Amino acid sequence: MDPVIALVGRPNVGKSTLFNQLTRTRDALVADFPGLTRDRQYGRGRVGRRPYVVIDTGGLGEPDDGVYHGMQSQPQRALDEADLVLFLTDARTGVTPGDEALVAELRRRGRPVQLVVNKIDGLDADVAGADFHSLGLGEPMMIAAAHGRGVRRLMDHVLDTL
Ligand code: GDP
Ligand code: MG
Repeated sequence: MDPVIALVGRPNVGKSTLFNQLTRTRDALVADFPGLTRDRQYGRGRVGRRPYVVIDTGGLGEPDDGVYHGMQSQPQRALDEADLVLFLTDARTGVTPGDEALVAELRRRGRPVQLVVNKIDGLDADVAGADFHSLGLGEPMMIAAAHGRGVRRLMDHVLDTL
């Protein structure tokens, strides 16, 4: 059974963009077209020879209005299937109350979590990452999903831990 990796995060942090990178399709469109990701929330990909399944939990019944409403029941069920959660945050906004609420929910679920800071393009990675240590999830991995930057490194790292 291939490892299952769930993408979790507030609306607009870049889950669909990373999902597209990880599945190398253009089918699951990003938020500019609300709703279109919804029947495309499970995908397959591989890094080198290592296959994985990836779930975009933002496509699972989460209102796409840019407001965090608390984790919905479908994403919660997807978490139970996941071997690992990639918890995405946004370097442009820093840590938000929505991030903190999601971290609390992830703790309750008890799944292994890798903290990811997205949208570091044009920013100093060390400065952008420092804020996120307060989440208590350890060292963040920095990516720019829209440009594919850091994505290979992230996946090599997390697949090594599984
Ligand atoms: P989701 O709601 O978490 O699925 O987020 P999306 O993948 O739909 O992305 C939300 C917005 O952030 C879109 O306008 C993306 O183009 C933008 N975005 C995603 N990744 C990056 C990135 O690495 N850098 C920048 N600057 N913008 C990004
Ligand atoms: Mg999305």
